[in-house]
Amino acid sequence: MIDITKAEVDILVQLQKAETETVHIESFLNDVEKEKSILESKLTDFQSALNKLKSDFDLIAKACFDAELEIKLNDDRIEKSSANLKKANSKDYPLLQREIDNNKKRRETLENLYLKHLEEKESQEKVLKEQEQLFVQLTQQIRSEQENIDNKSLTDRERLAEHRVKREEIARTLNKHLLSRFNEISEASGGLAVVEVRDELCRGCFMNIPPQLYIEVRRSTYLIQCPHCNKILYHIETLSQ
Ligand SMILES: [Zn+2]
Repeated sequence: MIDITKAEVDILVQLQKAETETVHIESFLNDVEKEKSILESKLTDFQSALNKLKSDFDLIAKACFDAELEIKLNDDRIEKSSANLKKANSKDYPLLQREIDNNKKRRETLENLYLKHLEEKESQEKVLKEQEQLFVQLTQQIRSEQENIDNKSLTDRERLAEHRVKREEIARTLNKHLLSRFNEISEASGGLAVVEVRDELCRGCFMNIPPQLYIEVRRSTYLIQCPHCNKILYHIETLSQ
């Protein structure tokens, strides 16, 4: 049992007011941060999709380059065989001729492949450029939205700092046993440690407290917690104002 004076009940109620304000603003600012990070993840998602487009484009550009190189090597082979053909004897002639014919057919296949890759490369390049431009626009838009959010919540961040200072100032004037009990309950119940009892009803959990306990709360000579929700109870008569 912790003894308590009416003045201490006053301080507890003041501390609760500051705590409630602090928790309220903190929760609002948390939502603000969430809103900002949702915007940020939109940007990250877009960036990932863009990176995928870039790597697909790099692959098709490489395929184009390879096909072009292969055509050139094939042309070199045709040219070499044609030169050899001119000085070939009757035995080598048909072999070389067949080799040239085969490589010419191969050239057609390679050419078709190259054109297919080229077409794909050009279409991907177009999409990539459009998406890159969109990304620049989206980045500007999101940065500006985030800045707006920051500007709008600036006052709240200042208010939060003030309420935290106020809470600390009040806490310093409180008996350390009461303060540690207050902190324990507040932490366990999302920032609500001290509640009023009116007409035998706890305003924290809206359950009735036993009549004898109600009398004790009104007398307020020791710290009383709600038997249901564990919060510290006070009665309005106890307060000095
Ligand atoms: Zn209760």
